Amino acid sequence: MTDHTTPERATHFIRTIIDEDLASGLHQSIQTRFPPEPNGYLHIGHAKSICLNFGLALDYQGQCNLRFDDTNPAKEDMEYVESIQRDVQWLGFEWSGEVRYSSNYFEQFYQYAMELVDKGLAYVCFLNMEQQREYRGTLTEVGKPSPYRDTPAAENRQLLEKMRNGGFKEGECVLRAKIDMSSPIMCMRDPILYRVRFQHHHQTGDAWCIYPMYDFAHCISDAIEGVTHSLCTLEFQDNRRLYDWILDNITLPNATRPRQYEFSRLNLEYTVMSKRKLHQLVDDKLVSGWDDPRMPTISGLRRRGYTPASLRDFAERIGISKVDSFTEMSILEAAVRDDLNVNAPRSMAVLNPVKVIIENYPEGQVESIHAPVHPQNEAMGKREIFFSREVYIDRDDFREEANKHFKRLVLGKEVRLRNAYIIKAERFENDENGELKTIYCSYDPDTLGKNPADGRKVKGVIHWVEASKAVPAEFHLYDRLFSVPNPGKAEDFEAVLNPDSLVIKKGFVEPGLVDAQAELAYQFEREGYFCRDNQHPGLVFNRTVGLRDTWSENA
Ligand code: ATP
Ligand code: MG
Repeated sequence: MTDHTTPERATHFIRTIIDEDLASGLHQSIQTRFPPEPNGYLHIGHAKSICLNFGLALDYQGQCNLRFDDTNPAKEDMEYVESIQRDVQWLGFEWSGEVRYSSNYFEQFYQYAMELVDKGLAYVCFLNMEQQREYRGTLTEVGKPSPYRDTPAAENRQLLEKMRNGGFKEGECVLRAKIDMSSPIMCMRDPILYRVRFQHHHQTGDAWCIYPMYDFAHCISDAIEGVTHSLCTLEFQDNRRLYDWILDNITLPNATRPRQYEFSRLNLEYTVMSKRKLHQLVDDKLVSGWDDPRMPTISGLRRRGYTPASLRDFAERIGISKVDSFTEMSILEAAVRDDLNVNAPRSMAVLNPVKVIIENYPEGQVESIHAPVHPQNEAMGKREIFFSREVYIDRDDFREEANKHFKRLVLGKEVRLRNAYIIKAERFENDENGELKTIYCSYDPDTLGKNPADGRKVKGVIHWVEASKAVPAEFHLYDRLFSVPNPGKAEDFEAVLNPDSLVIKKGFVEPGLVDAQAELAYQFEREGYFCRDNQHPGLVFNRTVGLRDTWSENA
C-alpha cells in the first residue's frame, strides 16, 4: 500500500482516543471502515471521511474495510457500487480484504433481531406510519406505548418469521426495539429495526422481503467486522445511544466491541453536497452527469484535473474537529494549485487567438526550439516547440495604446515571446467588422534565449503558439456552479445556479499536446492549469484552476 503519511500530521481528538486505546491495551491494533450507501457517486465530503478512515489505518498500521451499507435496495444500484470502488482506489487507498456488503450479513442481522425478540426487547408493531408518528410524541411531549408493545415473546417470534416469509404486505407491520417511549432522545422511542419491502436487491436478489434499518445494520456490521473505531459525522450523535443499546443487548459476535465517534462533516461554499440535490442536478440535466467537472464529486474533480494527492492534502488542511463550519473553495483550490505548481508540465495554449506575422522572418522557415518542461525543475527535461513567420498570440495581449502597466504587446513597442524572440508591433489590420485581424511585427534575431546586446530592457513576456503546427483545441473554463455561498439553504437551489459556470473557447495548443493524456494537468503559461477531458474524443481541455486565487476578497 502506498505510504501517504507525512512526518508532521496534525493531531485531532480521534487520534488522541486511539492513542489512549492502544496505550491502555484496550486494542492491539485499530480497525476502521468506510461505509457508503451505494445510492449516488462519492463527493468531496466523502473524500474527507475516506482520508480519515483509510489514513488512520495506514498511520497506525491497522486496517480499513470498504463496506457498502446496502440496506435500502430501492435507491441503490451497481453503477454506484462500481463508481465508489473506482473513486476510493483513485484516491490512493486500498481496503483490507474483499469489499464488504451489509447485505452479506442479512442472515446474521435476522438472528440478532430474533435474539432481541426472545429477550422481550423487540416486537412486531401493526400501527401504521401516521399512528406511529402520533404515538412517538414530540421533543416536549413523551410518547405513548404501542398497543403491540407487550405482545409475548413467543408470539413475536412467530410474527417475525411470518414477516420474513412474506406473510405481510409492505407497510402492514414493522419490527421495533422496545426501549423507552419517554426518552428525550427521539431515536430511542422504540425505533424501527425492520420493515417489509418486496424489492429486488442488487446483491441478494429476491432472497429477502424484509430489510433492516440503517441503525440496526450499521452497528452489527461494525461488530461482525471487528471495527474498533466507527467514525461518522455529527448528525449521528443521537444515534450513538441506539448503536450502544443494540450492541449491549445482543451476544457480540467478536471480542471487539466497536465504539462510535462523530466528527463534523465537510460543507464547501458555492456547492451542494446532499446526495438528493446532486441527483437532482444530474436528473434535471443541469450538469452533464455525475462527473461533470463542475460537480463536487470525486469523479468530477478528477475529470477537472484535480490529483489524488491534492484531495488528500486538502483533507489534511481542513483537519478533523467537532465544529460545524463552511470551508472556503479557495482552500480546495490552493491544495491543487500547490501540487500542480510543482508537478505539472508547462505548455503554451492560446485561448483567444489572433494572428501575428513577423515580416522580417524568412518565409517558409520553421525553427525548432527546446523549451524547459518545468522552469524550476530541469529533471523534467525539454519539449520541442516551433517558431516561424506566423504565430498566434492572445487578443487580450495586444493594444494599440497602453500605459506602462500593460506589460504586453503595444503598437510600436517590444515584448518577448516566451522561450523565443523579442518582437515589435509595427502595424495591424482589422477585419470588416472592426475586429483585430492581424498584427504585423518584426523580430530581433539576436534575442533567442538572451537579452538584446545593446542593453535595452524588454519587460513583458507573452505566450504564443507557432501557426503552421498549432493544433486546434477547445477550452472549457469553469467557474463556481452556484452564485451564492450556501445554495443548499436557498428556497430553490436551481434558481441560484451560476449561468456562467461554463465558458467555452476555441484556440490552439502546442503540437506536443495532440496526444495529451486525459486527466493529466498542464500549466498553460499565464492561463492556468488545464487537463484533457476524459470523455470528449477531440482535444478538449478543462481548466482545473487559474494561476491565482480569484476567490478571496482581496485577490
Ligand atoms: P445519504 O445518507 O444522504 O445517502 P451520505 O452523504 O451520508 O448520504 P453515505 O453513503 O451514508 O452518504 O456516507 C458514507 C460516509 O461518508 C458516512 O460515514 C458519512 O458520515 C460520510 N460523509 C458523508 N458526507 C460527508 C461530508 N460532507 N463530510 C464528511 N463525511 C461525510
Ligand atoms: Mg448516510
